[in-house]
Amino acid sequence: MNKWLTTPNRYGTIVVILLMEVMMDIVFLGILGYQPWRHKHTSCIMIPEYGIVLDAGTGFHLVREHIKSSRLDIFLSHLHDDHICGSLYQLGVLYKKGVRRVALYGRRGIEAFFCKRQFAYPRFPVDIPSHEKILNATFGFYPVFQEQSQWTMAQSGLRYIVSAFRLPHPSGGSLAYDFLVGGKRIAYVTDTTLDIHNKRVRRFARALQKGQKLDLLIAECNFANRHEALARFTGHTFPDVLVEFLKEVQPQQAVLTHLHPHSDEFGSDFFGEDRIAFQEVQNGYGKQVSLARQEMMLAL
Ligand SMILES: [Zn+2]
Repeated sequence: MNKWLTTPNRYGTIVVILLMEVMMDIVFLGILGYQPWRHKHTSCIMIPEYGIVLDAGTGFHLVREHIKSSRLDIFLSHLHDDHICGSLYQLGVLYKKGVRRVALYGRRGIEAFFCKRQFAYPRFPVDIPSHEKILNATFGFYPVFQEQSQWTMAQSGLRYIVSAFRLPHPSGGSLAYDFLVGGKRIAYVTDTTLDIHNKRVRRFARALQKGQKLDLLIAECNFANRHEALARFTGHTFPDVLVEFLKEVQPQQAVLTHLHPHSDEFGSDFFGEDRIAFQEVQNGYGKQVSLARQEMMLAL
């Protein structure tokens, strides 16, 4: 069933959009934080039908197998390597795949960062103009300036709306994204201490409480409660604060990602010594919480 949706945009006007309910898959191409491990990769999640990519860690190389659109919109949370190193794999991922437009969204300064530091000597030998020539595609870099901004994207007749929120992180902020896509609402948040007592986190939670019910929250929870101090120091989440956040926001389901390599049947914290997250969070929240698995496909 299609849905008419009214939503305020950043200028305070109301946009009315027909959001088609299209069955879509969410593919978890990278589920680890910090380091890859054998067949598991660092942060990258994709919604192929819409060309949406969330973060570009080592899992980004698997995007190639799932491309279904002529445009890729890559939403970066922040610029730590486990979330962006895969952005250097564009030639391998996109060569002869028919992608004509690549858009990268991220923090202020994103264009200079990628054009002058990532795709430049000594980091990488092929610059962005050469990528465009080889791939017959254009690249665009878009800073998300505002604390909360919203925009509408169109892809081969399919439209979706995305809002971005800047949350605390020692690197200068981590962007969380809230999508209205295919009739569903999906939010992605990683590498921040998701503490509802923080002003920005509370504002994010309030925004998620408004409007359409949140179908899926994809969230990082990389540390055990006993490592709270380190979690806060490095800008990560631990079960106690995540449970509080979930109780506020009430998503239909939550998937934990940015895991330790040994997280399989159970969650494991950053040091691999504590079994955490999954059961602790599920018990605290009382609704469906699961762990992301490498190359897991979630149908929504
Ligand atoms: Zn990370």
